[in-house]
Amino acid sequence: MDVFRCPQHALGTAAQPIGTIKDKLLVGKMRLGAKRLTEKRMRDQDDRTTETYLRDYGFSEGMLNQFFRAFYGGIFLERDLRTSSRMFQFTFKMFAEGYATLPANGMQAISNQLADRLPEGAIRLDSPVRAISRQTVTLEPGESIAADAVVMATDSETARRLVPGLGQTEGLCRLVIGIYFAANESPLNEAIIALNSAEDPLLLSVSQSGWALGTAHGTLPAKLLR
Ligand SMILES: Cc1cc2nc3c(=O)[nH]c(=O)nc-3n(C[C@H](O)[C@H](O)[C@H](O)COP(=O)(O)OP(=O)(O)OC[C@H]3O[C@@H](n4cnc5c(N)ncnc54)[C@H](O)[C@@H]3O)c2cc1C
Repeated sequence: MDVFRCPQHALGTAAQPIGTIKDKLLVGKMRLGAKRLTEKRMRDQDDRTTETYLRDYGFSEGMLNQFFRAFYGGIFLERDLRTSSRMFQFTFKMFAEGYATLPANGMQAISNQLADRLPEGAIRLDSPVRAISRQTVTLEPGESIAADAVVMATDSETARRLVPGLGQTEGLCRLVIGIYFAANESPLNEAIIALNSAEDPLLLSVSQSGWALGTAHGTLPAKLLR
């Protein structure tokens, strides 16, 4: 619970058995710091793993395991917190400054708004790319499109296929499984995400809206997917 937004929960949060009182004060300090942090300062800082950053900041082992691995496991899609500390600072700043939101017309509304600002025909859907070079994109049927520059933003496996000389991309892709489910009744009586802080969990988190995030390294039991 973010006590800066819901000060009425401050006492209850302080009493929660996740992390020490010092950890909770450090979260507050980090939150204030994140709001002042500019993107330039973020970029200029030493790049460490998130785990090293959080340890250097003074967080306890309990806070790392019970909160940060559990929460950021669902964001970085890895629980070792080996992701860049700059990425951690960026996402933490976004959480500190913004609200979790969903457009009234769903997530698709965001890409629709972006697309609406572009000239007619600028976006081509259902056009698989077969090959790319510095200034040409070749589509599956063989059509070539010339460009001043080409930016590739696919998954790493496709990127390696499209640009054979790209180098090592294995291990760059992180997998996760999303499960949508319906239940007669929710054990959560608030719009919150329940985090799983177990050491090697099958499910990372469950939300009241009927959505769960599972680790991709284990095979989810079939009965869970039925
Ligand atoms: C479970 C989950 C929850 C998330 N929740 C959030 C959230 O709440 N908020 C948030 O901001 N982010 C969230 N994210 C992250 C967000 O979804 C990703 O960061 C974002 O989608 C990445 O966009 P992208 O364009 O880089 O890659 P992608 O969305 O993966 O797009 C890559 C595209 O390349 C296309 N492609 C592949 N091969 C070819 C080819 N040969 N020719 C043409 N096209 C090709 C694919 O079809 C695909 O459309 C979440 C991610 C996951 C997995």
